[in-house]
Amino acid sequence: MTRQADLEKLTGLTRPHRDMINIMPLQTGSILTDAARRMLLEFGDGYSICDFCQGRLVDIANPPVRQFVTEMLPEFLGSDIATLTYGARDGVFMVIHSVTKPGDVVVVDGNRHYSTAVAAERAGVELAPVPNSGYPEYKVDPEGFAQALRDRKAALLILTYPDGRFGNLVDAARVGEIAGTEGVPLLLNGAYAVGRMPVRMNDFGADFIVGSGHKSMASAGPSGVLGMKQKWQEVVLRRSALHKTKEIECLGCTVRGVTLATLMASFPTVVERVTHWDEQVAKAQWFSSAMEELGFTQLGEKPHRHDIMVFETPALFDISQRVRERGFYLYKEMESRGIWGLKPGQTKALELSTFAASREELGQVVDAFKAILEKYR
Ligand SMILES: *Cc1c(COP(=O)(O)O)cnc(C)c1O
Repeated sequence: MTRQADLEKLTGLTRPHRDMINIMPLQTGSILTDAARRMLLEFGDGYSICDFCQGRLVDIANPPVRQFVTEMLPEFLGSDIATLTYGARDGVFMVIHSVTKPGDVVVVDGNRHYSTAVAAERAGVELAPVPNSGYPEYKVDPEGFAQALRDRKAALLILTYPDGRFGNLVDAARVGEIAGTEGVPLLLNGAYAVGRMPVRMNDFGADFIVGSGHKSMASAGPSGVLGMKQKWQEVVLRRSALHKTKEIECLGCTVRGVTLATLMASFPTVVERVTHWDEQVAKAQWFSSAMEELGFTQLGEKPHRHDIMVFETPALFDISQRVRERGFYLYKEMESRGIWGLKPGQTKALELSTFAASREELGQVVDAFKAILEKYR
């Protein structure tokens, strides 16, 4: 078979799981709206957003990128200004890289995402983590930030809100107060917040907030948003000396096509959906109780306040020790029941999200676990 023929097989690819009940944390907040799905074709060509660009992506008037970036995003993020990025991690890196110097210390919560650590490495700064409380809640005490800032002179404080494993929400307003008292800028990493739940950085006294289009804003990716206080414009969005219209930190331009078109097309729906967050939290808590009734243990904060959750599931692990497929039996059993999103092979602890599924569908998920426990008893 030639390589060309191998590649041609790609044209026949399908995603058979697309319409199943989806509980995969990464995917539940990024399922496209119908409006965004139409944009996939309309703006699929490279540089398609740039028909009327006069040098700056964020100034394009048609489609209305300028209005989106200068009016709609700041209002949504509770920031003075906003810009577009390739994703949450890119926003985190831009902020670290422009606000700190190599060798500086950045204080961060102990539940930070790996990409924050990698961004810090790339920028040559040291992370000083505020430890979590350990098993079973893994909470980060906001007062730990005050202690960390007393111990070390820090250039930046990063709070993951919520963290991507347990879905814990640290008291961000308290962390903002501490940052303000110590005069250290605060970055909120809202990869799992912006687009799911109401979150406005000025309510927390934060200097920056990042969100992820392809994680929580019903957008194709990579795409992301970054909001900040006006005073940081000259630092994070500083311009090139050689090309006066271009910003340095993003190398002059970011999401130039279909990813931005889908982000904008889904935005009205996203703005509306965050107003139903209390229903999402109620659904998550109901699901958590139903899972605990099956004998599983929810880790992280209880009562839980986010759709991202981890359960300890020793009974499912025990089964994996007895069956031919080992850990893979669980993913196969769930798939055959129309449920998508468990990591193949994983049985000891399951990470999942209740965001996209209805209560009825989550009932089916609980029933599936119950049926599997009975089948292998
Ligand atoms: C998923 C995730 C990221 C990375 O988001 P991208 O938009 O893909 O860069 C960063 N931080 C947290 C907490 C996440 O959960």
